[in-house]
Amino acid sequence: MAVIGIDLGTTNSLAAVWQGGQVCLIPDKTGNYITPSIVAVDADGNIMTGYAAREEELLAPDRCASNFKRFMGTEKRYCLAGHEFRPEELSALVLKKMKEGAEAFLGEEVTEAVISVPAYFNSDQRYATKLAAQLAGLACERIVNEPSAAALTVRQEELSAKGQEGEAAFYTMDSGEASEQCLLVFDFGGGTLDVSIVDCFENIVEITAIAGDNHLGGTDFDEVIAAAFCAENGMEWETLDRKEKTALMFEGRRCKETLSSQEAVTMQYQRDGKCLGMELTSEKIFSLAPGLFRRIKNTISRALSDAGLGISDISQVLLAGGSSRMPAVQMFLSRLFGRGITAGVEPDFLVARGIGIYAGIKERQEEVKDILMTDVCPFSLGLRVQGDLADGEGKMCMMIERNNILPCRVTKYFVTASEFQEEIRLMVYLGESYHPEQNLKIGELCFPVPKAPAGKEGVYVTFTYNINGILEVFAASSSTGQEKSAAFVSGRGQFSPEQLLQKQDWIQAQQHLLQEEEERKAILSMADRLFAETSGAAREYVEQVIQYYNHAWKSKSLIRIRKAGKAVLQSLLAVDMRLRQSMFDEGMFEEAFLWEDGAEE
Ligand code: AMP
Repeated sequence: MAVIGIDLGTTNSLAAVWQGGQVCLIPDKTGNYITPSIVAVDADGNIMTGYAAREEELLAPDRCASNFKRFMGTEKRYCLAGHEFRPEELSALVLKKMKEGAEAFLGEEVTEAVISVPAYFNSDQRYATKLAAQLAGLACERIVNEPSAAALTVRQEELSAKGQEGEAAFYTMDSGEASEQCLLVFDFGGGTLDVSIVDCFENIVEITAIAGDNHLGGTDFDEVIAAAFCAENGMEWETLDRKEKTALMFEGRRCKETLSSQEAVTMQYQRDGKCLGMELTSEKIFSLAPGLFRRIKNTISRALSDAGLGISDISQVLLAGGSSRMPAVQMFLSRLFGRGITAGVEPDFLVARGIGIYAGIKERQEEVKDILMTDVCPFSLGLRVQGDLADGEGKMCMMIERNNILPCRVTKYFVTASEFQEEIRLMVYLGESYHPEQNLKIGELCFPVPKAPAGKEGVYVTFTYNINGILEVFAASSSTGQEKSAAFVSGRGQFSPEQLLQKQDWIQAQQHLLQEEEERKAILSMADRLFAETSGAAREYVEQVIQYYNHAWKSKSLIRIRKAGKAVLQSLLAVDMRLRQSMFDEGMFEEAFLWEDGAEE
């Protein structure tokens, strides 16, 4: 049974599958690859999704829901024609449509999908995505960050092009030349902006930093344009009813999208028998939305600074998401990066293709099974602890810092703060602020401790963040031996079948390192031998080489480990060679001598 990849977008969704040695986008019955992520309930109570729902949205916006992906995992509820929906349920309806489309295309039942989400999605949002898949009858073991999927598309295309050129397949371990690239993925959709720095080396695609704005996307531009239209035509945006706002935003969006194929467009709207208008150009969008562009710039700066890179270190900027088609955005990026930045082929399909490739990796398809992809934690996770002044103010104790490579695990010891307290409340927060109140509380775990003077009892707390970006917190007491753990999704502290899957993921992720483990063993035993066989400067050199390798190993970065492995192996082989050469030289001399002796005989 095929595993499909689904790009569940804020505005549009797409599905892809690995088939016949390549990724293949799945069309719907009418040949369209794109399904608008919109749900509507018609006058008869029938549920519609996709294009039909998009049409309905214009007629009866009250019966339609869009942009619900932004609210996945929140308490927000949508009431459509008397039915109440959670954002997950609405997403499930879209996913169900994708599943059915895939089944029709493939001619077989589809029960498993890998789904892409914005890198900036928190545990709640990821959990909600899995729940949506479950509701749609799809098992979703793996959630992939959208920028990772986009980078995967570009990388896989390069790898297969290399393969086709007749070179050794690039993604196998015995490949020839190494190739390294540092990509910046600028993924700008309808509702979110994700900027990721991706290092590619041989067959490894490694995210090294992520920065995002969960509430910045094409819709914000639509609103700015619609509001400007009102201002120019003597209307007050704030006082319009929902239907008028929807119609104006729809028109604003249409004009914004037209600007990617023509330089200027006239936005028109009929009101009170009059035809109102406004000229729109990319330059005008610049002047209308300085705040939005500033937010774009800040997000890019944060990603670069987290990766410790400057603009000149970026070898390629990849544009993904519908909003990256805006010429105003491309012009802005070109100015920022000091070079022309244009959309490659089909930016709308970049993530979908990547998630389709990932579906192939998940199925261990021959052509892609050796591609490794690692991700990072997009935000810091920590516990609220007593503040420095012990005045009731709390402060953050960061457990996992943002941009740590996944999966990751950190353990720290916490002691009681008050005299004879009976339990330690572990309050888990997500965010970068020193002040817990300014971060997002994602749950808590209460841990009983024996009554004792302050600071005498304590608990070991372990944070485990898995490759799907879901946090598990484990607490253990050293004095009572008691243990407690919970998957951290706010409001859901219980164990669930989900956790079983998380553990499988953990084990799977460990397997990624197997190849490196083997290499490591080989390197270390070779080093041991060389250390024993050498002395003086050569011995010191071997020791330094090993320290360097161990340092890379500690970083957990597959790229660093792989690179260091190569370099270290080369250095050790050189030492080995020298060592043997001097023996071999002597041997040769002896052999030659013997041979000469023999010849004389
Ligand atoms: P996504 O969430 O990636 O599907 O992106 C949807 C967003 O991309 C919406 O805000 C669209 O208005 C926007 N978009 C799609 N095509 C274009 C285009 N040609 N020019 C400008 N914006 C576009």
